[in-house]
Amino acid sequence: MITVAGSLNMDLVVYADRIPRPGETVLGRNFRQMPGGKGANQASAAAKLGADVRMIGCVGADSFGAQLKESLSSDGVDVEYVMVKPDVATGVAVIQVESSGDNSITVAAGANYSITAEDIAGMKDVVTDTDVILLQLEIPLETVKAAIFAAKSAGKLVILNPAPAAVLDEEILRRTDILTPNETELEFLSGHRTDTLENLKAAGTILLEKGVKDLVITLGSRGALHMNRNSTAHYDAYRVNAVDTTAAGDSFNAALAVFLSEGKTMEEAIGFAMKVGAMTVTKEGAQPSLPLLEEVNHFDQWIKDHIKS
Ligand code: ADP
Repeated sequence: MITVAGSLNMDLVVYADRIPRPGETVLGRNFRQMPGGKGANQASAAAKLGADVRMIGCVGADSFGAQLKESLSSDGVDVEYVMVKPDVATGVAVIQVESSGDNSITVAAGANYSITAEDIAGMKDVVTDTDVILLQLEIPLETVKAAIFAAKSAGKLVILNPAPAAVLDEEILRRTDILTPNETELEFLSGHRTDTLENLKAAGTILLEKGVKDLVITLGSRGALHMNRNSTAHYDAYRVNAVDTTAAGDSFNAALAVFLSEGKTMEEAIGFAMKVGAMTVTKEGAQPSLPLLEEVNHFDQWIKDHIKS
């Protein structure tokens, strides 16, 4: 069982020739509404990869909230602990995409920010009745902390994807088994540059010294770096034609959680996550681009068709 505690957002995407300046109106072309939020993306990804997944989160008593729960549920995620709070709006991300491909995004966290440490205390058995707990930072830090404390005191595996980056105290870092920053997040968390391999390792060492057990740094098309006190290993990314890197990190984290919850080694888990990340970037969107286990099982054939020449 994997428990994901995190955000659910409705992504509202408008496509236009260009993004308007303040005070300006431009006529857009089309509009798409898609389920998103890092928590929901990771829960959906893990369920598609065949795991038993439960989501802890919060939406408002509105139509977006109902649609987000329904969408996760149809992916096979248990949404019993996605609370519905009547006095808040479901989280939304308003995304404008212009023809150059550039985008601008405003997130209204809404209900995601109303899930409290007390809510987690009331769900203590839920947090501990799991193999792995997977968290991100799109819900209040105090809530993340409460979930990590509860899971760790029951000896569960804690995976924290520190996105978007926020200051993490040592009480959190010491209870985190696996921290999965990208380069930018690692730079923020360590206060150290990450522009060269040497600097990446030095930045990683700072976090290991603060108590993180394993660090898996995702490097986009350059793969990932795994560090712990005993070893450092680099994993090459598959060479594929990326069309949209949205949710690459989300599917990577989910894949890691799935393999580790099945008792596989870190090496096997990162190898699997590399495949899942590569498959995600070859399709558009967040949740629609997440691969099914069945598809990953045919990766050897898939990569022959998608390898970048
Ligand atoms: P984030 O979205 O959190 O910044 P990354 O961009 O580092 O995360 O991507 C996570 C993982 O997805 C990478 O470690 C890699 O395995 C895979 N990935 C991302 N971009 C590519 C790419 N262009 N080609 C192949 N694999 C990729």
